[in-house]
Parts: sequence; C-alpha cells; structure tokens
Amino acid sequence: MPTQRTLCIIKPDAVEKKVQGSIIQRVLEEGFRIVAMQQVQLSRAQAEGFYAVHRDRPFFDELCTFMTRGPVVIAALERDDAVAHWRKVIGATDPAKADEGTIRKLYGANVGENATHGSDSPENGLIETAYFFPGHELL
Ligand code: ATP
Ligand code: MG
Repeated sequence: MPTQRTLCIIKPDAVEKKVQGSIIQRVLEEGFRIVAMQQVQLSRAQAEGFYAVHRDRPFFDELCTFMTRGPVVIAALERDDAVAHWRKVIGATDPAKADEGTIRKLYGANVGENATHGSDSPENGLIETAYFFPGHELL
C-alpha cells in the first residue's frame, strides 16, 4: 500500500464535547504520523473554500455556519493507505449509519454534526493538506 496523506478535521461539535484528545489518541493508535496540526477557528471564506465542491448543495450554508461556529483541530496525517483507512476509522457520514467503534458513531450527533472530516481520495488528501498547511509538502 502506498504512503498517502489525508486531512483530518476535528469539527466544532467534537471540540465542544472535549473529545479532541480521544480522537488524536485514536489517530496515533491507528498508526498515522501527524505531519502538521493546528487549532483554529475557520473564517467563512476558509470554510466556503474548503467545501466549495458542495456549494450547490442545499446544506452548504448550514455546513459553513457549523464549521465556523467554534475552533476546529486540523491535522495532516500520513500512513499507508491513509485515505481509505481514515475514512474507515471515522465511519459513514451519518453517525446513525456508522459502524460500531467508529469516531462518528462514538461522537457524532447527526449527518451535519459528525465530529470529523476525512479526505475522499489520495489526490484530495494532498490538495486539502496543502490548503491548510502550505509549506509542509516535503516534510
Ligand atoms: P467530510 O467531507 O466532512 O469528511 P463526508 O465525505 O462523509 O464528510 P460529504 O458528502 O463530503 O461527506 O459532506 C461533507 C459534510 O457536509 C458532511 O461531513 C456533513 O458535515 C455535511 N453534510 C453532508 N450531508 C449533509 C446533509 N444532508 N445535511 C447536513 N449536512 C450534511
Ligand atoms: Mg467529503
């Protein structure tokens, strides 16, 4: 399996619940290397840019309001098969449909407030990590 990068965002709902430590511990237990990590409150422009692919979806405004309502923890993660592995660990978008033991099942509230983000392809893993961590391309 190739080494890949994926972007992890611990979303505002999970930070409000004070479970960011548990999620970071899970990241480490799953064998990811943390390439870079920061806590920040996203601006509206950052959230809209990050989720631009969803701009025509009915939930776009709600999604950007949610993602900017409080701090998030953003981490660039590296591992063999990082994209698929992280998505397996976080579980289905809707926590009600997520497998037992996944992060969204454990900490997510509903399809909007679902605790974590993961990149959806190796290509987007690189694009998304560079979006938040320019300059970390070669670390
Ligand atoms: P993410 O990209 O955050 O890892 P995902 O890839 O599982 O999640 P996407 O389809 O990319 O799911 O949706 C992006 C985010 O938009 C979701 O994680 C969720 O926060 C929000 N979202 C998706 N569908 C809905 C919906 N029907 N209603 C409200 N919010 C939604
Ligand atoms: Mg997605």
